[in-house]
Amino acid sequence: MTRGAPGAGRTPTADAIRAGDRRALAAAITLIESTREDDRAAAEDLLQALLPHAGGAVRLGISGAPGVGKSTFIEAFGTRQIAAGRRLAVLAIDPSSARSGGSILGDKTRMPELARREESFIRATPAGGTLGGVARRTRDVMLACEAAGFDLVMVETVGVGQSEAAVADMVDLFMLLVQPGAGDELQGIKRGVVERADIVVVTKADGALAGPATHAKADFEAALMLHAGAGPWTPCVIACSSVEGTGLDEIADAVARHRATMAADGALEARRAAQAETWLWREVEETLIATIRADARLAPAVAALEAEVTAGTLAPAAAARRIVERLLESQKGEGGASPTSPRPSPPPRGGEGE
Ligand code: GDP
Repeated sequence: MTRGAPGAGRTPTADAIRAGDRRALAAAITLIESTREDDRAAAEDLLQALLPHAGGAVRLGISGAPGVGKSTFIEAFGTRQIAAGRRLAVLAIDPSSARSGGSILGDKTRMPELARREESFIRATPAGGTLGGVARRTRDVMLACEAAGFDLVMVETVGVGQSEAAVADMVDLFMLLVQPGAGDELQGIKRGVVERADIVVVTKADGALAGPATHAKADFEAALMLHAGAGPWTPCVIACSSVEGTGLDEIADAVARHRATMAADGALEARRAAQAETWLWREVEETLIATIRADARLAPAVAALEAEVTAGTLAPAAAARRIVERLLESQKGEGGASPTSPRPSPPPRGGEGE
């Protein structure tokens, strides 16, 4: 199925990825993350071939402010997972990399042990350059890693920007890392992020920080109590030291208990189904916007409406509706080839109770 895309000859096969060929997986991720329009078809075909083989991994999201100890934790926790016989992929999303130039997450020396092990695969995605959606393709990359046979996929994001919500929307278990001796506001934790955590990990519970870690644990336990009982899983707070290795087994146990709890009454499937629906509508939004921006015939009308909105003479909602109407007209003008015009309705939220 070559469509003349540049590099189509290098398109990795689903078989090679499933066989554990790391170069094929790396090439697949590059293809999936490509913003080139002519790579889309090959990326979608590949994902479609991989999809039936995805879904087997534990999807773990890890978020926390810079310096909280994410990479040290992932290195220590991940190494123990490997020792327990698992294979893991670490996908790091860095929403700040476009701004800061060099990617803080792109540096494999952050996790030297995992970087050299055969059982682990690390990939960093600079999300700063993407239009609109943070980590738009990370979910697809996660599915590719699952098809490649990884038992655990850890999606790491810096706790700044909108990336935590995007990550919480793609994982089975969302873990928030906090450090002792700093309040939420000092750690840049936004409202709502603590409430989304299935496990809060207090890092650096060693040495002089052991006492403050105990206090932080109690504080976060109190914060979590406020929204306990939303699902079958009761969120918990665990203190650990990645340096001394304490608390890591307790976290691994909690991850396993979470899995068992969620799997028991179909909650895991319901969560994943609701997430897939959320991503569907996000993609519709992104695709609609990209289609509008790419349509040269719409550009003058869009620019005029934008100018009216910025001048304060037209409400954004009215302008948006007119832009969508223009889009639909322009599609009709193409000979009515596409009867499946997207419906500009808002994405449904929640949908837990299937
Ligand atoms: P990240 O930016 O969230 O990935 O944070 P890092 O993992 O790079 O850690 C930031 C700093 O905290 C580094 O200097 C680490 O050595 C230190 N650190 C990380 N984990 C621990 C820990 O368990 N105990 C102590 N004492 N320091 C830690």
